[in-house]
Amino acid sequence: MKISVLLFTFLCICSFKSIAQPGANLCFQDEWFNEGERFQARGMTWDVWFINEQNNLGMTREEIANKVKITLERLPTSHLRIVNEIHIVVGKPCKGGGSRKCASNPERAGILLSYESFRDMRARPTRYRCSGRNYTDKGAWDEEKQTHGTLLHEIGHHIDYKYSITNGLPRHEREDFRTCVNTNGCYSKTAKTRGISEVTAQAYYAYFNRTTYQQVMAGSTDGSPRSGTQPATRNGATKLFNQRRLNVLLSSDAWESWD
Ligand SMILES: [Zn+2]
Repeated sequence: MKISVLLFTFLCICSFKSIAQPGANLCFQDEWFNEGERFQARGMTWDVWFINEQNNLGMTREEIANKVKITLERLPTSHLRIVNEIHIVVGKPCKGGGSRKCASNPERAGILLSYESFRDMRARPTRYRCSGRNYTDKGAWDEEKQTHGTLLHEIGHHIDYKYSITNGLPRHEREDFRTCVNTNGCYSKTAKTRGISEVTAQAYYAYFNRTTYQQVMAGSTDGSPRSGTQPATRNGATKLFNQRRLNVLLSSDAWESWD
């Protein structure tokens, strides 16, 4: 099986398991403000919050935060401003990641990433114990591309909320997304969350996993990301990141203008 398929399956299964965990905190909690690792990127101050000690990665907090930083640097500044308002939390859930919109207080929205997600995706799965349970999981860090796949997927959810990409889809596109969610190969059969916004988040991940904001803009003829150098697609009805899904991203307000 191709690595991309494995990664896709991994991202789906993991992202949604965490959401399904009973008792998961839906908003950023006061006590999580304790342990932060601060860095600067694109003229903004960022904090990565570490909320427990389940780290057996052999990486320092600075090294973990640096993987976040390197991934963020691929994105346009207009998207980074949105992400900068969201709390990035490491150490929860035990497996994969999750997005928290925090409907009651949007200032407490968060992106959650497990410690294990910071391992190299090409390494063997690790068996570990977390919060009294046993897990086996692979990492989401791509050492070759220098990207954190789960982080890009979760950012995709927040960019989607902000620009109403999924909500604004015309009926025929919603049906296409629904078909993808129900087609194994396009979307993981075992994923627990099956909303069509998963297709948008995954397309966002695929886009910025293959290219960077700088590469897109370097090819732009008129200063618009839409005329820039676009990442390769995989055409075919069962491919998640095909030309049709690329067009959904490009035609959304999130691709209107980048600075
Ligand atoms: Zn998701």
